[in-house]
Amino acid sequence: MRKLLVFLIVLFSSLTITQAQNKTPESSIFTVQEVAPQIWALIVKPTSNVPAISNTAFFTVGDRVAIVDSHFTPAAAREAARLVKIVTGNKPIHYLINTHWHPDHVQGNSTYSSLFPQAINIIAHTNTRRDIQEKEIPSIKETQEELVKEIKELQDQLKNGKDEKGVDLTAEKRQEVEKNLQQSKDLQVDLENLEITLPNVTFDKSLFLHGENREVQVLYFGRGHTEGDVVIFLPKEGILITGDLLTGALPFVGQDAHPEDWGQTLEGVEKLNVSRIIPGHGQVQESKERVTFLKEFMFDMVKAVKEQIAAGKSKEDTIKIVKTALAEKHAKKFSNFERSSNSAIDRTYARLSGK
Ligand SMILES: [Zn+2]
Repeated sequence: MRKLLVFLIVLFSSLTITQAQNKTPESSIFTVQEVAPQIWALIVKPTSNVPAISNTAFFTVGDRVAIVDSHFTPAAAREAARLVKIVTGNKPIHYLINTHWHPDHVQGNSTYSSLFPQAINIIAHTNTRRDIQEKEIPSIKETQEELVKEIKELQDQLKNGKDEKGVDLTAEKRQEVEKNLQQSKDLQVDLENLEITLPNVTFDKSLFLHGENREVQVLYFGRGHTEGDVVIFLPKEGILITGDLLTGALPFVGQDAHPEDWGQTLEGVEKLNVSRIIPGHGQVQESKERVTFLKEFMFDMVKAVKEQIAAGKSKEDTIKIVKTALAEKHAKKFSNFERSSNSAIDRTYARLSGK
């Protein structure tokens, strides 16, 4: 009896391993990672040739599939859809959730609406739909124009045998320029007739999806990285998908960010009972430690900038003083602190001073 039991355990465990291996397809763009049963993260490989840029997560909701964000290019979205098909055994994607309006999270929307014309619902916060219309769609033309300029510059470098600084191209450098040129041309083709499908389901506070196997909560806690950041919380499994409200380092604090609200927004996120996080960029996180790190950074930065404004300091002086003051506690927690804290303080100063 015992022998049989051992035999069965070995048999089933090896079966499980084989099945798991079969389910994990290879991709040149993404690493497929099952973070909980029927919940997968697609983490962008740093070596990816296609500018996908942001991570994706997808999961089953009953016999349907929901996917989060759609990448920078249709090519990346097509690759994500291919992986979903293999991994889920050809279940249709019914829900696409845009965490916010930035190009690397929405430019593949139309890929899903053309692959699943009858099925797809694109879900986003009301402000995200507005910002896709007002900011993202007008920016596509700019991206296309920049690409034309970039391609011309790279072609000139090859023709003249000199790099952008006028230095002669080595054989190695020439190869690199040729590779960049090919990538830019591919991107140009991919973005040529780009249209963005707008979200057709919007909400202000929360939206729930109810499947046989799980509940999905799409939640808005306030402004932060943009005015419409939503997180996706799977309460039964303790999985949180954050978009760029949280990344593996200091998230981008751009001209549409609200650092003055970001800490409080994260305070809401922090209360969720989370065991693993799939961030908008970077690797899967095994705790919510980084939510606390970023919340403290935002609170400390806002407080320090307020003090400098009250003391009548200029923006330039404020950036220097606050960066030095924050470095001791925060620099080691954010690998890009040196590079990215300037724009964060800059934007905070602008929001708090009105200048
Ligand atoms: Zn973003």
